[in-house]
Amino acid sequence: MRVVVQNDERGAGRRGAVRAGLAALTAAAVASGCAQGDASGTRPAPGQQQAQSATPARAADSYAAGQRAARAARAAAAKRWGLSEAPLVAPPPPAKKPRITTRDGFEVDDHEELGLPPVFTTVPTKKKIVFLTVDDGAEKDPAFLRMMGDLKIPYTAFLSDYLIKEDYGYFKKMQAKGVVLNNHTLHHRYLPGLSYAAQKREICGMQDVIEKRYGTRPTVFRPPYGNYNQDTLRAAKACGIRYAPLWDEEVYVDHWEYREWDQDLHPGDIVLTHFRGRKDWKGTMPDMIRRFLKKVTAEGYAVARLEDYL
Ligand SMILES: [Zn+2]
Repeated sequence: MRVVVQNDERGAGRRGAVRAGLAALTAAAVASGCAQGDASGTRPAPGQQQAQSATPARAADSYAAGQRAARAARAAAAKRWGLSEAPLVAPPPPAKKPRITTRDGFEVDDHEELGLPPVFTTVPTKKKIVFLTVDDGAEKDPAFLRMMGDLKIPYTAFLSDYLIKEDYGYFKKMQAKGVVLNNHTLHHRYLPGLSYAAQKREICGMQDVIEKRYGTRPTVFRPPYGNYNQDTLRAAKACGIRYAPLWDEEVYVDHWEYREWDQDLHPGDIVLTHFRGRKDWKGTMPDMIRRFLKKVTAEGYAVARLEDYL
């Protein structure tokens, strides 16, 4: 369908009608679950091969048509999920990863000397992006998986075994959609109250669960409640952890909470939320995501993938 549109568009008089048609086609494609937003999975109809590779000008037309189709698909997905504005698209991952260091005031004794995982709340970047992290794993809402896939919003999960063991399969589906499953300990204890050995059991034990259930061993860990001491980071390092991200903002279903005095988003901020539903707060996970995206988009930020920057 892409090629037909491209040829028709060379007749300028029909441009408006063609765009409308393209939008309709795109919406139909999304509804049937086959739109990927790029050309990689799309094949022209039989007999159309010639036109697609004809001239550079036509290639440019084709690219522009692809861009318009992707935009229309994003707008259609946003509308389906009750968003007035389509989420902005994050820039490509950085060619050179930023150097992540521990936030001032968040260090433990000998943090650098011992090579302990950095504790940070923001990733150094000048781009208008934020990162979404979703913690614990209590609520397992299939609509959340559909919404995030449909809107193509990346996020990172920090999972605690005592909550996810009721349904490991839910998070397997999440992983299949490209989400990285990270370590949030076995039982979500207040780690500074535990011995080094007990902390290590909490962290390494969760590494084992994730490896057994999902085939990967995380390198990213978040201490429950954001509380840690030197033993936490030493244990985490011993378990194979390289990063310990906290957060700069937290989004709930009905409000935001900020760490900074300016009560605002900043480039590279890590945003925390939780797998929670109507039992825990006044709404669903899609309700929470709508609140999150509304502010992020209105302030000109896109949502990027944390692991792309680590
Ligand atoms: Zn937690």
